[in-house]
Amino acid sequence: MNKNELFRKIPSVEEILILEEINELDYPRALKTEAAREVLASIRKKIANVRDEELSIVAEEININSIIKNIITTLEKEFSSSLKKVINGTGTILHTNLGRSLISESIKDEIWKIASGYSNLEYDLDLGQRGSRYSHVTKIIKLLLNVEDVLVVNNNAAAVLLVLSTFAKDEEVIVSRGELVEVGGAFRIPSVMAMSGAKLVEVGSTNKTRISDYEEAITENTKLLMKVHTSNYKMIGFTEAVSNKELKKLGEKYDLPVVEDLGSGVYFDLEEFGLKHEPTIRESINSGIDLVTFSGDKLLGGPQAGVIVGKKEYIDKMKKNQLLRALRVDKITLASLEATLKLYFDEEKAKKEIPAMRMISYTVEELEEKAKRLKSIIEEKEVNVELEIKDEFSTVGGGSMPGEEFPTKVLTISSEKYSVSKIEEKLRLSKNHIIGRVKDNNYMLDLRTIQNSEFEIIAEEIEKNLK
Ligand SMILES: *Cc1c(COP(=O)(O)O)cnc(C)c1O
Repeated sequence: MNKNELFRKIPSVEEILILEEINELDYPRALKTEAAREVLASIRKKIANVRDEELSIVAEEININSIIKNIITTLEKEFSSSLKKVINGTGTILHTNLGRSLISESIKDEIWKIASGYSNLEYDLDLGQRGSRYSHVTKIIKLLLNVEDVLVVNNNAAAVLLVLSTFAKDEEVIVSRGELVEVGGAFRIPSVMAMSGAKLVEVGSTNKTRISDYEEAITENTKLLMKVHTSNYKMIGFTEAVSNKELKKLGEKYDLPVVEDLGSGVYFDLEEFGLKHEPTIRESINSGIDLVTFSGDKLLGGPQAGVIVGKKEYIDKMKKNQLLRALRVDKITLASLEATLKLYFDEEKAKKEIPAMRMISYTVEELEEKAKRLKSIIEEKEVNVELEIKDEFSTVGGGSMPGEEFPTKVLTISSEKYSVSKIEEKLRLSKNHIIGRVKDNNYMLDLRTIQNSEFEIIAEEIEKNLK
Protein backbone atom coordinates (compact mmCIF):
# COMPACT_ATOMS: atom_id res chain seq x y z
CA MET A 1 0.00 0.00 0.00
CA ASN A 2 1.38 3.45 -0.83
CA LYS A 3 0.42 6.94 0.18
CA ASN A 4 -1.47 7.73 -3.02
CA GLU A 5 -3.70 4.72 -2.59
CA LEU A 6 -4.50 5.82 0.92
CA PHE A 7 -5.28 9.39 -0.12
CA ARG A 8 -7.72 7.98 -2.68
CA LYS A 9 -9.45 5.93 0.00
CA ILE A 10 -10.45 9.04 1.98
CA PRO A 11 -14.14 9.80 1.42
CA SER A 12 -15.23 13.26 0.30
CA VAL A 13 -17.03 15.69 2.57
CA GLU A 14 -20.14 15.29 0.41
CA GLU A 15 -20.10 11.52 0.82
CA ILE A 16 -19.91 11.91 4.55
CA LEU A 17 -22.69 14.48 4.87
CA ILE A 18 -25.25 12.16 3.27
CA LEU A 19 -24.54 9.32 5.71
CA GLU A 20 -27.53 8.68 7.91
CA GLU A 21 -25.51 8.86 11.14
CA ILE A 22 -24.30 12.34 10.22
CA ASN A 23 -27.54 13.48 8.68
CA GLU A 24 -29.51 12.84 11.82
CA LEU A 25 -27.16 14.84 14.08
CA ASP A 26 -28.81 17.96 15.46
CA TYR A 27 -26.25 20.51 14.27
CA PRO A 28 -26.52 23.03 11.42
CA ARG A 29 -25.18 21.69 8.12
CA ALA A 30 -22.43 24.31 7.97
CA LEU A 31 -21.01 23.09 11.31
CA LYS A 32 -21.18 19.43 10.22
CA THR A 33 -19.36 20.34 7.02
CA GLU A 34 -16.66 22.12 8.98
CA ALA A 35 -16.24 19.21 11.41
CA ALA A 36 -16.01 16.73 8.49
CA ARG A 37 -13.40 18.91 6.79
CA GLU A 38 -11.33 19.09 9.94
CA VAL A 39 -11.42 15.33 10.51
CA LEU A 40 -10.54 14.54 6.89
CA ALA A 41 -7.77 17.14 6.87
CA SER A 42 -6.20 15.58 9.92
CA ILE A 43 -6.23 12.14 8.26
CA ARG A 44 -4.57 13.62 5.16
CA LYS A 45 -1.95 15.27 7.30
CA LYS A 46 -1.25 12.01 9.10
CA ILE A 47 -0.78 10.12 5.84
CA ALA A 48 1.54 12.80 4.55
CA ASN A 49 3.68 12.74 7.67
CA VAL A 50 3.81 9.04 8.50
CA ARG A 51 6.72 6.83 7.53
CA ASP A 52 5.98 4.20 4.88
CA GLU A 53 6.30 1.26 7.27
CA GLU A 54 3.58 2.75 9.49
CA LEU A 55 1.06 3.30 6.71
CA SER A 56 -0.98 0.28 7.71
CA ILE A 57 -1.78 1.86 11.08
CA VAL A 58 -3.12 4.99 9.37
CA ALA A 59 -5.00 2.82 6.87
CA GLU A 60 -7.05 1.43 9.74
CA GLU A 61 -8.17 4.91 10.66
CA ILE A 62 -9.71 5.52 7.25
CA ASN A 63 -12.65 3.54 8.36
CA ILE A 64 -16.05 5.08 8.08
CA ASN A 65 -17.09 4.31 11.66
CA SER A 66 -14.03 5.90 13.12
CA ILE A 67 -14.49 8.95 10.87
CA ILE A 68 -18.09 9.33 12.04
CA LYS A 69 -17.00 9.01 15.65
CA ASN A 70 -14.34 11.67 15.21
CA ILE A 71 -16.80 14.02 13.55
CA ILE A 72 -19.22 13.64 16.45
CA THR A 73 -16.43 14.27 18.95
CA THR A 74 -15.35 17.36 17.02
CA LEU A 75 -18.91 18.68 16.91
CA GLU A 76 -19.37 18.15 20.64
CA LYS A 77 -16.04 19.67 21.48
CA GLU A 78 -16.13 22.70 19.21
CA PHE A 79 -19.74 23.44 18.52
CA SER A 80 -21.81 22.53 21.54
CA SER A 81 -22.68 25.60 23.63
CA SER A 82 -19.65 27.39 24.86
CA LEU A 83 -21.35 28.00 28.21
CA LYS A 84 -21.65 24.59 29.79
CA LYS A 85 -23.25 23.40 32.98
CA VAL A 86 -20.66 22.19 35.49
CA ILE A 87 -20.90 20.40 38.81
CA ASN A 88 -19.38 22.46 41.61
CA GLY A 89 -17.55 20.20 44.03
CA THR A 90 -15.28 22.95 45.29
CA GLY A 91 -17.36 23.93 48.32
CA THR A 92 -17.21 27.61 47.38
CA ILE A 93 -20.85 28.68 47.28
CA LEU A 94 -20.52 31.93 45.33
CA HIS A 95 -17.82 30.78 42.92
CA THR A 96 -17.40 33.70 40.53
CA ASN A 97 -15.57 31.52 37.99
CA LEU A 98 -18.45 29.06 38.03
CA GLY A 99 -21.25 31.60 37.63
CA ARG A 100 -21.63 32.92 41.19
CA SER A 101 -25.10 32.54 42.58
CA LEU A 102 -27.59 29.93 41.41
CA ILE A 103 -31.07 31.13 40.67
CA SER A 104 -33.91 29.39 42.43
CA GLU A 105 -35.54 26.66 40.40
CA SER A 106 -38.90 27.75 41.80
CA ILE A 107 -38.93 30.92 39.72
CA LYS A 108 -38.04 29.46 36.35
CA ASP A 109 -41.54 29.82 34.89
CA GLU A 110 -41.67 33.50 35.76
CA ILE A 111 -38.34 34.12 34.03
CA TRP A 112 -39.23 32.11 30.94
CA LYS A 113 -42.60 33.78 30.57
CA ILE A 114 -40.98 37.22 30.34
CA ALA A 115 -37.96 36.07 28.33
CA SER A 116 -39.98 34.37 25.63
CA GLY A 117 -42.90 36.77 25.28
CA TYR A 118 -43.65 40.44 24.89
CA SER A 119 -43.95 42.29 28.17
CA ASN A 120 -44.71 45.70 29.64
CA LEU A 121 -40.98 46.31 30.09
CA GLU A 122 -41.32 49.97 29.13
CA TYR A 123 -45.06 50.24 28.80
CA ASP A 124 -47.55 51.50 31.32
CA LEU A 125 -50.54 49.19 31.11
CA ASP A 126 -52.83 51.52 33.08
CA LEU A 127 -52.18 54.53 30.90
CA GLY A 128 -51.61 52.69 27.64
CA GLN A 129 -48.42 54.60 27.00
CA ARG A 130 -44.68 54.47 27.39
CA GLY A 131 -43.58 53.48 30.89
CA SER A 132 -40.23 52.97 32.64
CA ARG A 133 -38.22 49.79 32.91
CA TYR A 134 -37.03 51.06 36.28
CA SER A 135 -40.51 50.86 37.74
CA HIS A 136 -40.68 47.08 37.88
CA VAL A 137 -38.83 45.69 40.87
CA THR A 138 -39.28 48.97 42.68
CA LYS A 139 -42.45 48.14 44.53
CA ILE A 140 -41.19 44.80 45.81
CA ILE A 141 -37.88 46.23 47.03
CA LYS A 142 -39.54 49.24 48.67
CA LEU A 143 -41.82 46.93 50.60
CA LEU A 144 -39.18 44.37 51.48
CA LEU A 145 -36.51 46.83 52.59
CA ASN A 146 -38.61 49.82 53.61
CA VAL A 147 -36.76 52.30 51.40
CA GLU A 148 -37.96 55.41 49.57
CA ASP A 149 -36.75 54.43 46.14
CA VAL A 150 -34.75 51.92 44.10
CA LEU A 151 -32.68 51.73 40.94
CA VAL A 152 -31.40 48.49 39.41
CA VAL A 153 -28.41 48.46 37.06
CA ASN A 154 -26.16 45.89 35.41
CA ASN A 155 -24.03 45.00 38.44
CA ASN A 156 -22.72 46.53 41.62
CA ALA A 157 -19.68 47.96 39.86
CA ALA A 158 -22.12 49.83 37.61
CA ALA A 159 -24.08 50.96 40.66
CA VAL A 160 -20.94 52.46 42.21
CA LEU A 161 -20.00 54.05 38.88
CA LEU A 162 -23.43 55.64 38.55
CA VAL A 163 -23.42 56.98 42.11
CA LEU A 164 -19.98 58.52 41.70
CA SER A 165 -20.67 59.93 38.27
CA THR A 166 -23.97 61.48 39.38
CA PHE A 167 -22.78 63.11 42.58
CA ALA A 168 -19.07 63.64 42.30
CA LYS A 169 -18.07 63.97 38.62
CA ASP A 170 -15.20 66.47 38.46
CA GLU A 171 -15.59 66.89 42.20
CA GLU A 172 -14.32 65.13 45.31
CA VAL A 173 -15.46 62.06 47.18
CA ILE A 174 -13.99 61.08 50.54
CA VAL A 175 -13.19 57.43 51.26
CA SER A 176 -11.26 55.73 54.00
CA ARG A 177 -7.89 54.38 52.89
CA GLY A 178 -8.69 51.11 54.62
CA GLU A 179 -11.68 50.56 52.35
CA LEU A 180 -10.07 50.91 48.93
CA VAL A 181 -10.82 47.37 47.98
CA GLU A 182 -9.90 45.27 45.03
CA VAL A 183 -12.54 42.67 44.32
CA GLY A 184 -11.77 39.57 42.21
CA GLY A 185 -11.78 40.22 38.49
CA ALA A 186 -9.91 43.45 39.13
CA PHE A 187 -12.82 45.62 40.21
CA ARG A 188 -10.91 48.31 42.00
CA ILE A 189 -12.72 51.13 43.71
CA PRO A 190 -9.98 53.65 42.79
CA SER A 191 -10.21 52.69 39.10
CA VAL A 192 -14.00 52.94 39.07
CA MET A 193 -13.69 56.32 40.69
CA ALA A 194 -11.30 57.43 38.00
CA MET A 195 -13.70 56.23 35.29
CA SER A 196 -16.54 58.18 36.86
CA GLY A 197 -14.55 61.37 36.81
CA ALA A 198 -14.73 61.68 40.59
CA LYS A 199 -11.62 62.69 42.44
CA LEU A 200 -10.80 60.33 45.24
CA VAL A 201 -9.73 61.83 48.54
CA GLU A 202 -8.30 59.12 50.77
CA VAL A 203 -8.38 59.67 54.49
CA GLY A 204 -7.00 57.88 57.52
CA SER A 205 -4.36 55.19 57.55
CA THR A 206 -4.80 51.69 56.23
CA ASN A 207 -5.95 50.30 59.54
CA LYS A 208 -7.45 53.33 61.27
CA THR A 209 -9.84 56.02 60.17
CA ARG A 210 -11.66 58.38 62.51
CA ILE A 211 -14.60 60.67 61.83
CA SER A 212 -12.28 63.65 62.29
CA ASP A 213 -10.22 62.40 59.33
CA TYR A 214 -13.28 62.73 57.11
CA GLU A 215 -14.24 66.08 58.52
CA GLU A 216 -10.79 67.58 58.02
CA ALA A 217 -10.80 66.49 54.38
CA ILE A 218 -14.07 68.23 53.52
CA THR A 219 -13.63 71.18 51.16
CA GLU A 220 -16.01 73.15 48.98
CA ASN A 221 -15.34 70.57 46.25
CA THR A 222 -16.52 67.63 48.36
CA LYS A 223 -19.80 66.24 47.03
CA LEU A 224 -20.04 62.76 48.52
CA LEU A 225 -18.95 60.70 51.52
CA MET A 226 -18.49 57.04 50.79
CA LYS A 227 -18.11 53.83 52.75
CA VAL A 228 -17.05 50.59 51.13
CA HIS A 229 -17.68 47.31 52.86
CA THR A 230 -14.35 45.49 52.87
CA SER A 231 -16.03 42.34 51.77
CA ASN A 232 -13.14 40.39 50.38
CA TYR A 233 -10.39 40.91 52.85
CA LYS A 234 -10.21 40.94 56.55
CA MET A 235 -8.36 43.43 58.65
CA ILE A 236 -7.51 42.09 62.02
CA GLY A 237 -5.91 43.57 65.05
CA PHE A 238 -5.55 47.25 65.68
CA THR A 239 -8.29 48.67 63.47
CA GLU A 240 -10.82 51.43 63.64
CA ALA A 241 -13.49 52.39 61.17
CA VAL A 242 -16.24 54.94 61.20
CA SER A 243 -19.82 53.72 61.55
CA ASN A 244 -22.55 54.55 59.07
CA LYS A 245 -24.35 56.54 61.73
CA GLU A 246 -21.35 58.77 62.45
CA LEU A 247 -20.76 59.34 58.77
CA LYS A 248 -24.42 60.14 58.19
CA LYS A 249 -24.26 62.73 60.97
CA LEU A 250 -21.25 64.33 59.35
CA GLY A 251 -23.05 64.31 55.98
CA GLU A 252 -25.99 66.13 57.53
CA LYS A 253 -23.75 68.74 59.08
CA TYR A 254 -22.20 69.59 55.69
CA ASP A 255 -25.23 68.78 53.56
CA LEU A 256 -23.47 65.93 51.73
CA PRO A 257 -25.00 62.63 50.60
CA VAL A 258 -23.52 59.51 52.19
CA VAL A 259 -23.35 56.20 50.32
CA GLU A 260 -22.31 52.72 51.34
CA ASP A 261 -21.14 50.11 48.83
CA LEU A 262 -22.19 47.03 50.71
CA GLY A 263 -20.84 44.53 48.18
CA SER A 264 -22.59 41.30 48.86
CA GLY A 265 -25.90 42.53 50.15
CA VAL A 266 -27.06 39.79 52.45
CA TYR A 267 -30.65 39.79 53.67
CA PHE A 268 -30.42 37.37 56.59
CA ASP A 269 -28.14 37.65 59.57
CA LEU A 270 -25.58 34.95 58.85
CA GLU A 271 -24.90 34.39 62.53
CA GLU A 272 -28.06 32.36 62.40
CA PHE A 273 -26.12 29.84 60.27
CA GLY A 274 -23.11 29.83 62.54
CA LEU A 275 -21.15 32.31 60.46
CA LYS A 276 -19.56 35.58 61.43
CA HIS A 277 -21.82 38.62 61.39
CA GLU A 278 -21.98 40.34 58.02
CA PRO A 279 -23.80 43.69 57.85
CA THR A 280 -27.21 43.07 56.32
CA ILE A 281 -28.92 45.28 53.77
CA ARG A 282 -31.51 46.30 56.33
CA GLU A 283 -28.90 47.24 58.93
CA SER A 284 -27.18 49.47 56.44
CA ILE A 285 -30.45 51.14 55.46
CA ASN A 286 -31.58 51.47 59.08
CA SER A 287 -28.39 53.34 59.92
CA GLY A 288 -30.03 56.24 58.08
CA ILE A 289 -27.41 56.39 55.34
CA ASP A 290 -28.67 58.01 52.11
CA LEU A 291 -27.80 55.36 49.54
CA VAL A 292 -26.77 51.71 49.69
CA THR A 293 -25.53 49.64 46.74
CA PHE A 294 -25.21 45.84 46.55
CA SER A 295 -24.91 42.94 44.09
CA GLY A 296 -27.85 40.86 42.91
CA ASP A 297 -25.84 37.68 42.46
CA LYS A 298 -23.84 37.37 45.64
CA LEU A 299 -25.59 36.40 48.86
CA LEU A 300 -28.91 37.74 47.65
CA GLY A 301 -29.08 34.73 45.33
CA GLY A 302 -30.49 36.46 42.26
CA PRO A 303 -29.24 37.36 38.78
CA GLN A 304 -26.23 39.57 38.08
CA ALA A 305 -27.43 43.07 38.95
CA GLY A 306 -26.53 46.11 41.00
CA VAL A 307 -29.20 47.43 43.32
CA ILE A 308 -29.17 51.01 44.59
CA VAL A 309 -31.63 51.82 47.36
CA GLY A 310 -32.22 54.94 49.41
CA LYS A 311 -33.50 58.49 49.36
CA LYS A 312 -35.81 59.36 46.49
CA GLU A 313 -34.23 62.74 45.77
CA TYR A 314 -30.87 61.08 45.13
CA ILE A 315 -32.26 58.17 43.10
CA ASP A 316 -34.17 60.71 40.96
CA LYS A 317 -30.92 62.46 40.22
CA MET A 318 -29.32 59.20 39.11
CA LYS A 319 -32.25 58.44 36.82
CA LYS A 320 -31.40 61.60 34.90
CA ASN A 321 -27.77 60.59 34.37
CA GLN A 322 -27.24 59.65 30.70
CA LEU A 323 -24.80 56.96 31.80
CA LEU A 324 -27.77 54.97 33.10
CA ARG A 325 -28.65 54.01 29.53
CA ALA A 326 -25.34 52.14 29.19
CA LEU A 327 -25.75 50.40 32.54
CA ARG A 328 -29.33 49.31 32.20
CA VAL A 329 -30.62 45.82 32.89
CA ASP A 330 -32.65 43.66 30.55
CA LYS A 331 -36.02 42.06 31.08
CA ILE A 332 -34.63 38.64 32.04
CA THR A 333 -32.67 40.20 34.87
CA LEU A 334 -35.65 42.23 36.07
CA ALA A 335 -37.94 39.22 35.96
CA SER A 336 -35.57 36.99 37.89
CA LEU A 337 -34.60 39.65 40.41
CA GLU A 338 -38.24 40.42 41.16
CA ALA A 339 -39.15 36.75 41.51
CA THR A 340 -36.11 36.08 43.73
CA LEU A 341 -36.93 38.99 46.00
CA LYS A 342 -40.54 37.87 46.36
CA LEU A 343 -39.26 34.67 47.95
CA TYR A 344 -37.89 36.73 50.84
CA PHE A 345 -41.37 37.70 52.03
CA ASP A 346 -41.59 34.17 53.41
CA GLU A 347 -38.29 33.87 55.24
CA GLU A 348 -38.42 30.14 55.89
CA LYS A 349 -39.21 29.52 52.24
CA ALA A 350 -36.37 31.80 51.15
CA LYS A 351 -33.89 29.83 53.25
CA LYS A 352 -34.93 26.65 51.51
CA GLU A 353 -35.51 27.84 47.96
CA ILE A 354 -32.69 30.28 47.38
CA PRO A 355 -29.78 27.97 46.62
CA ALA A 356 -27.09 30.13 48.26
CA MET A 357 -29.09 30.20 51.50
CA ARG A 358 -29.86 26.50 51.33
CA MET A 359 -26.16 25.67 50.88
CA ILE A 360 -25.11 27.99 53.69
CA SER A 361 -27.66 26.49 56.05
CA TYR A 362 -26.74 22.80 55.65
CA THR A 363 -25.65 21.32 58.97
CA VAL A 364 -22.63 19.03 59.16
CA GLU A 365 -25.01 16.14 59.92
CA GLU A 366 -26.98 16.83 56.75
CA LEU A 367 -23.75 17.01 54.78
CA GLU A 368 -22.57 13.72 56.23
CA GLU A 369 -25.88 12.18 55.15
CA LYS A 370 -25.33 13.52 51.64
CA ALA A 371 -21.75 12.24 51.60
CA LYS A 372 -22.88 8.75 52.61
CA ARG A 373 -25.52 8.69 49.91
CA LEU A 374 -23.13 9.84 47.20
CA LYS A 375 -20.55 7.31 48.38
CA SER A 376 -22.98 4.42 48.21
CA ILE A 377 -24.25 5.43 44.75
CA ILE A 378 -20.67 5.45 43.49
CA GLU A 379 -19.97 2.11 45.18
CA GLU A 380 -22.86 0.53 43.29
CA LYS A 381 -20.87 1.10 40.12
CA GLU A 382 -17.97 -1.18 39.60
CA VAL A 383 -15.03 1.12 39.71
CA ASN A 384 -11.68 0.80 41.23
CA VAL A 385 -11.56 3.90 43.36
CA GLU A 386 -11.02 4.47 47.03
CA LEU A 387 -13.69 6.64 48.65
CA GLU A 388 -13.50 8.28 52.03
CA ILE A 389 -15.68 10.78 53.88
CA LYS A 390 -13.64 13.48 55.60
CA ASP A 391 -14.04 16.70 57.55
CA GLU A 392 -13.15 19.83 55.68
CA PHE A 393 -14.12 23.48 55.32
CA SER A 394 -16.31 25.31 52.80
CA THR A 395 -16.16 29.01 51.96
CA VAL A 396 -18.82 31.48 50.90
CA GLY A 397 -16.67 33.03 48.16
CA GLY A 398 -17.63 35.63 45.56
CA GLY A 399 -15.72 38.27 47.43
CA SER A 400 -17.91 37.70 50.47
CA MET A 401 -16.85 36.88 53.97
CA PRO A 402 -13.07 36.71 53.69
CA GLY A 403 -11.27 34.09 55.69
CA GLU A 404 -14.59 32.74 56.87
CA GLU A 405 -14.58 28.96 56.60
CA PHE A 406 -17.21 26.67 57.94
CA PRO A 407 -17.18 22.93 58.56
CA THR A 408 -18.33 20.57 55.85
CA LYS A 409 -18.01 16.95 54.71
CA VAL A 410 -16.12 15.96 51.59
CA LEU A 411 -15.78 12.73 49.69
CA THR A 412 -12.18 12.03 48.72
CA ILE A 413 -11.56 9.97 45.62
CA SER A 414 -8.30 8.18 44.95
CA SER A 415 -7.23 5.50 42.55
CA GLU A 416 -4.27 3.17 42.07
CA LYS A 417 -4.35 3.84 38.38
CA TYR A 418 -4.63 7.62 38.22
CA SER A 419 -2.76 10.38 40.01
CA VAL A 420 -4.67 13.10 41.87
CA SER A 421 -4.07 15.59 39.06
CA LYS A 422 -5.20 13.03 36.48
CA ILE A 423 -8.43 12.39 38.41
CA GLU A 424 -9.02 16.12 38.62
CA GLU A 425 -8.41 16.54 34.90
CA LYS A 426 -10.48 13.56 33.77
CA LEU A 427 -13.52 14.59 35.80
CA ARG A 428 -13.20 18.23 34.78
CA LEU A 429 -13.06 17.29 31.10
CA SER A 430 -15.81 14.68 31.40
CA LYS A 431 -19.11 15.33 29.69
CA ASN A 432 -20.69 16.74 32.85
CA HIS A 433 -17.60 18.71 33.90
CA ILE A 434 -17.12 17.93 37.57
CA ILE A 435 -14.96 20.58 39.25
CA GLY A 436 -13.42 19.23 42.43
CA ARG A 437 -10.95 20.52 44.97
CA VAL A 438 -7.37 19.38 45.33
CA LYS A 439 -5.83 19.84 48.74
CA ASP A 440 -2.73 18.24 50.25
CA ASN A 441 -2.57 15.87 47.30
CA ASN A 442 -6.16 14.69 47.86
CA TYR A 443 -8.94 14.98 45.33
CA MET A 444 -12.24 15.82 47.00
CA LEU A 445 -15.82 16.76 46.31
CA ASP A 446 -17.44 19.07 48.86
CA LEU A 447 -21.04 18.02 49.46
CA ARG A 448 -22.10 21.55 50.37
CA THR A 449 -22.12 22.75 46.76
CA ILE A 450 -23.20 19.47 45.16
CA GLN A 451 -26.90 19.22 44.41
CA ASN A 452 -28.81 16.01 45.18
CA SER A 453 -29.81 15.73 41.52
CA GLU A 454 -26.13 15.45 40.59
CA PHE A 455 -25.25 12.30 42.58
CA GLU A 456 -26.13 9.82 39.86
CA ILE A 457 -24.32 11.86 37.19
CA ILE A 458 -21.18 12.02 39.33
CA ALA A 459 -21.27 8.25 39.87
CA GLU A 460 -21.66 7.64 36.14
CA GLU A 461 -18.79 9.94 35.24
CA ILE A 462 -16.55 8.25 37.77
CA GLU A 463 -17.49 4.89 36.30
CA LYS A 464 -16.85 6.08 32.76
CA ASN A 465 -13.64 7.97 33.40
CA LEU A 466 -11.85 6.24 36.26
CA LYS A 467 -12.32 2.58 35.49
C1 LIG B 1 -18.40 42.34 44.68
C2 LIG B 1 -18.23 43.77 45.02
C3 LIG B 1 -18.36 44.76 44.04
C4 LIG B 1 -18.62 44.41 42.60
O1 LIG B 1 -19.91 43.90 42.47
P1 LIG B 1 -20.37 43.25 41.07
O2 LIG B 1 -21.82 42.99 41.27
O3 LIG B 1 -19.53 42.04 40.89
O4 LIG B 1 -20.11 44.27 40.03
C5 LIG B 1 -18.21 46.07 44.42
N1 LIG B 1 -17.95 46.42 45.70
C6 LIG B 1 -17.82 45.48 46.67
C7 LIG B 1 -17.52 45.93 48.07
C8 LIG B 1 -17.96 44.13 46.36
O5 LIG B 1 -17.82 43.21 47.32
